[in-house]
Amino acid sequence: MSGVRSSRIRSLKCRECGREYELEPLHVCDFCFGPLEVTYNYEEITRSLTKEKIRNGPKSLWRYKELLPIETEDPLDLGTGFTPLIRSTNLAKELGLKELYLKNDTVNPTFSFKDRVVSVALTKTREFGYTTVACASTGNLGNSVAAHAAKAGFESYIFIPADLERGKILTSAIYGPNLIGVEGSYDDVNRLCSEIANEYDWAFVNINIRPYYAEGSKTLAFETAEQLGWVAPDHVVIPVASGSLLTKIHKGFEELHQIRFIPDSKTRISGAQATGCAPVATAFANHTFTIRPVKPNTIAKSIAIGNPADGYYALKAVTETGGFVESVTDEELVEGIKLLARTEGIFSETAGGVTIGVLKKLVESGKIASDEVIVAYITGIGLKTVEAVENALEGLQVIKPSVADFNDKILRRNPSLGQ
Ligand SMILES: *Cc1c(COP(=O)(O)O)cnc(C)c1O
Ligand SMILES: [Zn+2]
Repeated sequence: MSGVRSSRIRSLKCRECGREYELEPLHVCDFCFGPLEVTYNYEEITRSLTKEKIRNGPKSLWRYKELLPIETEDPLDLGTGFTPLIRSTNLAKELGLKELYLKNDTVNPTFSFKDRVVSVALTKTREFGYTTVACASTGNLGNSVAAHAAKAGFESYIFIPADLERGKILTSAIYGPNLIGVEGSYDDVNRLCSEIANEYDWAFVNINIRPYYAEGSKTLAFETAEQLGWVAPDHVVIPVASGSLLTKIHKGFEELHQIRFIPDSKTRISGAQATGCAPVATAFANHTFTIRPVKPNTIAKSIAIGNPADGYYALKAVTETGGFVESVTDEELVEGIKLLARTEGIFSETAGGVTIGVLKKLVESGKIASDEVIVAYITGIGLKTVEAVENALEGLQVIKPSVADFNDKILRRNPSLGQ
């Protein structure tokens, strides 16, 4: 037992053999190498936590602190979470859906949902007493770790594939981390980081801190249910990289049911991948729980993980809840970005294009019914991946600064505009 802690947080528990561990910076079971997960005393949380308490809490993910593995009264806070759940009007109509919502996580401090996991991870890192943090990243995680490390005064090491989008490199570099571009895929970067983690006593957000880090994603389920008036949606569509986000949104709805905040947790969970990196979608299509690693080849770099650590658990959550895992091509994901922008005024990155593309595909194939209450998770902003939609620049019409030229070049070509 290390130090005083609340009885609200119970242990780290192996997902495979059930063995329990103290709340230390550990991520795999010593006995079976299964992944460790934070467990809680739900009876105690049920007794102490009320909806009123949450309603009166901070307008950030910290309103759900009682359901996160954090002890401190003073968490690391850049203003993450409690993002808008937007009722879709135009996109819903275009897809023939009655009740579609968009969870807009592009508005977080570093413009992706990764601020949720990193807020929790780096708060925990501080509790453990580390002063150096590190991560392997497909881009957004690096941005968020660099920003939060700057705020916390940590030394940080961010490892990324060297060929990431410029917008994803710059938005880490600006915060002044040690930023290392590795010649290889994310899976190569991750393998390297596991080796480095063995050599140095650092907090690796997605290695030894991973069980705590991953819990932050539950807040997307908590907020969704609260914003719907304490009910869970019928169906959610979630982009899948390592599978952690999907697995934890599922856990979040189940926990709300467990503490009796929502009547049931019958939400169908569906996953979205890019065809150029779709190991989970492929396993789903082949009715197997064995995930074959792939070599990523897609412009959806933020979710290009060929060997997904939580792929198996994501598949299990999808299958148990009656959801699906689908993939879309790079062309379809670009269409998804444009469709979302043109119908709802939200500019998403490639991962959001995948989510919208897969949503459309699931609706068109009848796998999502038109009367379901649906939430699509838009997890990152489009400004970091402008390369994907560069041809939108063709929308710029250049004229001389004269009314005559405006009339001639713009109105004459679009007669309806001048009427
Ligand atoms: C990291 C990321 C995901 C998926 O994350 P996993 O938890 O690894 O599945 C989805 N969308 C965006 C924009 C991301 O950066
Ligand atoms: Zn085990």
